[in-house]
Amino acid sequence: MTAHRVPFDGRFSIGDFSPDPPDGMPSRKALGDELGGLVDELDALQQRLFADQRFAVLAVFQAMDAAGKDSTIRKVFSGVNPAGFRVHAFGRPSEPELRHDFLQRVAARLPERGKIGIFNRSHYEEVLVVRVHPEFLAAQHLPGVDRQRIWAERFESIRGFERHLARNGVAIVKFWLNISRKEQKKRLLSRIDEADKNWKFRLGDLDDRARWKEFQSAYEAMLRETSREWAPWYAIPADDKPYMRVAVARVMVETLRNLDPRFPKFGPEQRREVAEGRRRLEKE
Ligand code: ADP
Repeated sequence: MTAHRVPFDGRFSIGDFSPDPPDGMPSRKALGDELGGLVDELDALQQRLFADQRFAVLAVFQAMDAAGKDSTIRKVFSGVNPAGFRVHAFGRPSEPELRHDFLQRVAARLPERGKIGIFNRSHYEEVLVVRVHPEFLAAQHLPGVDRQRIWAERFESIRGFERHLARNGVAIVKFWLNISRKEQKKRLLSRIDEADKNWKFRLGDLDDRARWKEFQSAYEAMLRETSREWAPWYAIPADDKPYMRVAVARVMVETLRNLDPRFPKFGPEQRREVAEGRRRLEKE
């Protein structure tokens, strides 16, 4: 699955990835049908993942505001057994959380074997919003910060953390929903214009929008430094929502298919048990 995948060789350039869907995008109807099929397959694969008990899957979502993280998560996982996945949204760390290292709160919410964990924002905020707003870094009680090196060090920590998880059976897949500045404006305006979307609007979102360029360069560095074979990033075009959802669902299904989770083998012992079960039930 290489469509939209960020290369692993550190040569990523943000301009190479478009917020627009690729040419020849299927029709709305075809996208809708495909999504329906993928959603069902994801459910079937999660069931096998649970039966297999070797792997967990972690899906990370990062994006600028209004790119559609929430609605994509809702649509893509709408068919999965609710017992089989869990979404965690990471906001500004609390004071108790700030008393730990920055990976602690995510480590505490990792999925167990058999489950899918979804991070709506994640440890990656630590090299995005924290990089763009130095006051967040200042609030982290760190013992001496070398501003020349801190981001490279954080990338190193994150790569090491994810490598460790991958070795221990966590399949990691990361989505950057790539929305354009123009489309973001349109969606933020619709939050103002449409009464039932008003609750989503926050004036503060405009502050981050005003720092678009700084965010884009933080995203570029993050994608370049942390897309690796064991934890790939996908730069998903986000200006067209139906396409975005299908693109995410395809990657999720492909990731689970590649794990090839299996139902446990049925040996002679289990066969005896089943036969015994039938005998007893029929005798009732
Ligand atoms: P969302 O915008 O994802 O719907 P919120 O409106 O609750 O959710 O926003 C969460 C906010 O928390 C975002 O502005 C995000 O940048 C911020 N945040 C998340 N992680 C951190 C962090 N480690 N340090 C500072 N701010 C963070």
